Amino acid sequence: MTTTAAPDRADSQTAGSEAYEKLALFIDGEFISADRKTQDVRNPATGEVIGKLPHATRADLDRALAAAQRAFGTWKHSSPMERSKILRKVGELSRQNAKQIGRNITLDMGKTLAESVGEVIACAEHCDWHAEECRRIYGRVIPPRLPNVRQMVLREPVGVCAAFTPWNFPYNQAIRKIAAAIGAGCTIILKGPEDAPSAVVAIARMFQEAGLPPGVLNIVWGVPAEVSEYLIKSPIVRKISFTGSVPVGKQLASLAGLHMKRVTMELGGHSPAIVFDDADVDRAAKLLAGFKFRNAGQVCVSPTRFFIQQKVYDRFMVAFLENTRKIKVGSGLDPESSMGPLAHERRLPAMDQFIEDARQRGGRVETGGERIGTVGNFFSPTILTNVPDDSMLMTSEPFGPVAPCAPFKDLEEVLRRANSLPYGLSSYVFTTSTGNALAAQNGIEAGMVNINHFGQALAESPFGGVKDSGIGSEGGTETFDGYLTTKFVTQMD
Ligand code: NAD
Repeated sequence: MTTTAAPDRADSQTAGSEAYEKLALFIDGEFISADRKTQDVRNPATGEVIGKLPHATRADLDRALAAAQRAFGTWKHSSPMERSKILRKVGELSRQNAKQIGRNITLDMGKTLAESVGEVIACAEHCDWHAEECRRIYGRVIPPRLPNVRQMVLREPVGVCAAFTPWNFPYNQAIRKIAAAIGAGCTIILKGPEDAPSAVVAIARMFQEAGLPPGVLNIVWGVPAEVSEYLIKSPIVRKISFTGSVPVGKQLASLAGLHMKRVTMELGGHSPAIVFDDADVDRAAKLLAGFKFRNAGQVCVSPTRFFIQQKVYDRFMVAFLENTRKIKVGSGLDPESSMGPLAHERRLPAMDQFIEDARQRGGRVETGGERIGTVGNFFSPTILTNVPDDSMLMTSEPFGPVAPCAPFKDLEEVLRRANSLPYGLSSYVFTTSTGNALAAQNGIEAGMVNINHFGQALAESPFGGVKDSGIGSEGGTETFDGYLTTKFVTQMD
């Protein structure tokens, strides 16, 4: 097997240079790139090839499995203090390297530099938080029925985890899973997003620098369906965590079920944004325009169905359109840009399809609606009205910069429409009425309800959906539940 040394920091991170991340597999503490089939990584703003990503061979996957299994034998007994120290160190390194890692995320994924660097810095908090909380994984003592009996519940790491993360928040989605697994005493094999791989390689490098023992974290790349099937079927793997689309999530969860493995599934949504007529309408329009088009709308919790109460509908639309038209689309590296390109060219026809279906059903494009230029995957921020509830856009997650808006009459109607889909990830409500706020928090079928602001996705708050949007949480104290088992111990003197 041919291996290379760990990518040299000076080589891959020369300050101010144009060097992109040196892409590699990371198996049993070694970075591997030579003599492997590679896949081109492209800059979505230019279409240029910026890197060659090595795919894991079957032997690489077997080696990662064996390394993770071996490392679990010792890592599960490691002190939470040791795990905590490593996670904290990776948090520090993330802050120190945020600029360079962020730049590489912008290069391979497209989002603006401010968003990329912000993602890395916010993730340092995830490291800090898991570093704290992994020291507080407590069991409990259950009062016995007999005086000479002691009953305890122990919490133990579940074992080797296989994780699959997407391209839209390449740093965030990976670090959430890695920090939870490592903090709980598990080992992990992660297949990151082939379209935007630099952040995951940077994470591996920082864990190595922080002193993580070989085999505890392994990074592989390849054809997603082939890698996931191989790892999920392996008897070595005990837990699966996936973030991505609902159809793929269902496929992986079925396979995991067949092999009796526990899952965490962070899947898609189609989040309603509800603006009541008692809301601060201008503020709601401004905040929603900013939030909707963040990361070019390629966000699982993006507001994607806008319901505006009749009395304020016209006023909201004027302000929402005005704020949206101010968005400057351009290369994420250009500090003037407020929205970058779509991450992959396959997302361009996907947007066209949503808009065409809406148009055919009487929908009106109020702004945007088309690709910008012919170089790069730029698409204009788009707002549609008069889109029927049974259109593709109102029933399937657009995962892009397209916002359908519709008026509603009353609370009962809007809750019915909000809950009419099989999704239940996030939701947004703008109102000054405590009655509406209470009805929304009790009535909306979603894992997260944000009222008058966007406050979710913090390290300390649960993050996950209900219904088809997923199972489990990666965030908050709930985060470790997916990575731990319980063992009941009873002893008689
Ligand atoms: P896609 O379904 O092909 O891929 C989505 C992600 O899942 C990618 O990272 C991909 O590598 C991975 N994936 C696909 N098949 C897999 C498999 N069999 N095993 C393991 N991983 C697999 O779609 P796409 O065009 O890349 O993205 C668009 C869709 O993906 C959107 O409609 C959206 O619903 C979903 N998505 C969701 C999230 C999220 O955060 N929930 C993130 C990215 C994409």
